[in-house]
Amino acid sequence: MMVARAMALPVAAPQEPARVLHGAADARDLSIEWAALSLPELLAQAVVRFGDRLAVGSSFGKEGLVVLDHLRRIRAGVPVLFLETGYHFPETLAFRDRLVQEWGLNVQNLRAPQTVAEQDAEYGKDLFSRDPDTCCKNRKVAPLRRALVGYDAWLTGLRRDQHEGRKDVPLVEWQELEPGGTGVFKINPLVQWTRPEVERYLEEHHLPRHPLWDQGYGSIGCAPCTRKLRPGEHERAGRWSGFEKRECGIHLMGKPPAPDPL
Ligand code: SF4
Repeated sequence: MMVARAMALPVAAPQEPARVLHGAADARDLSIEWAALSLPELLAQAVVRFGDRLAVGSSFGKEGLVVLDHLRRIRAGVPVLFLETGYHFPETLAFRDRLVQEWGLNVQNLRAPQTVAEQDAEYGKDLFSRDPDTCCKNRKVAPLRRALVGYDAWLTGLRRDQHEGRKDVPLVEWQELEPGGTGVFKINPLVQWTRPEVERYLEEHHLPRHPLWDQGYGSIGCAPCTRKLRPGEHERAGRWSGFEKRECGIHLMGKPPAPDPL
């Protein structure tokens, strides 16, 4: 696919009041309706559809930057949900602050109810080294789930070629936040993008760079669970190295547990 250039798009008002969307069937319909749109066109549609009830989730990785760079030209101030786990690299926090300063991002820092010290006291020190699923559940999944109750849709930077477990990610999916109750649309506008396309966009548009990107890191998450890539490794191989864990869980919310979790 061609990489769409960032451009200012007027956000037109819908011609007739849109009905309230809800549920998996509507997510499938939106996936079909938006399938042929360019990234800026799709984001403009999401803004029209969901207005103030739209957020974007980002840890300021490369894909997130592509989405944010387009979105800020379409609508300023869309809340950027950042999972402030207490374990980020200082470079990530500095990069976040730089983007707030330079791009005017409206970052919402989502924190777990427990501080790291309180979690250590309850579970023992360095839970991530023994049970990263519980640590991620406490510090990422639970805070995001709580925050998303306040929105109708959120944007991600997922790509289908990031790993096997993401190869079937739809353009729009429905995430149930409470069994049989509240839910939210998860919009994945980069599903068809490839890593080289993302890299090319960052370069051609001279986007700010996370300082660790050029030090051998692929995907960057919490510091204790992220290592540099070895030659030839896949971009996400440095996450949870030594564990059979591929996802923190925020993208698995609302899905039945897989028999062989990736
Ligand atoms: S990525 Fe690691 S440190 Fe961060 S929340 Fe998950 S297990 Fe904990």
